[in-house]
Amino acid sequence: MTGFLSGLLSPRLRRALIRIGRIARLTLITGLVVAAGWFAWLNFPAAYHPFKPLDLRAAPNFVTPFKLRRLHGAHGVCMAAVGASGATARAESIVSPTPGCGMEKGLYLQQSLIPWGGGIRLTCPAAVALLMWERHVVVAAAQEHLGAEITRFHHLGTYACRNVNNAAAGRISGHASANAIDVAGFGVADGRRIMVEDHWGADSDEGRFLAAVHRGACGIFATVLGPDYNRQHADHFHFETAAWGMCR
Ligand SMILES: [Zn+2]
Repeated sequence: MTGFLSGLLSPRLRRALIRIGRIARLTLITGLVVAAGWFAWLNFPAAYHPFKPLDLRAAPNFVTPFKLRRLHGAHGVCMAAVGASGATARAESIVSPTPGCGMEKGLYLQQSLIPWGGGIRLTCPAAVALLMWERHVVVAAAQEHLGAEITRFHHLGTYACRNVNNAAAGRISGHASANAIDVAGFGVADGRRIMVEDHWGADSDEGRFLAAVHRGACGIFATVLGPDYNRQHADHFHFETAAWGMCR
């Protein structure tokens, strides 16, 4: 049939028809690819969708650091994420006359899964990281290594207008911008007290619990430092969201 038709058409018309056929095919393929992409974009799981808001209740994955970074400068979105997780916090800011110090838009954590004993003043993204660590790392590690729940945290502070390692000169600390917290230990429901100072590196359930919560903080926080880093961290873990790339 085609051979019969093509025999009737002039060569010019035949070429034109072939060209139209090619364009139609290309348009159809492009349309299908775009539609499939759009469908995937809309139906991509929120936890892996880089532009969907972070849900603190979802387990952290490789997209989490990107989502956490996007919370910087999106205070409203960040506070909403904290609220949606079940934690309560009030917006707070700290004004400092010292250059590099202060907390422009942050929060004061009033309540989360495990009591912190007060004093948690952090930028919202740092608080989000802390709440994710608490929910997804500490709870699971306690169950696995201690067989009991953590009932409170012991911390050495969050905001502090100072240099790294309290040095008189040098780089300003992540604490000065309320992007860091020093975690010293944990209270367990069975009465145990697990302190970084006492149990770090120990071949015991307590030692393995500390190793697990330290390791679990990497990937949620940008910088994680512990006793293996230097003497200044012998009694606490330093968790920070500002600068990326250290897990020691
Ligand atoms: Zn610190």
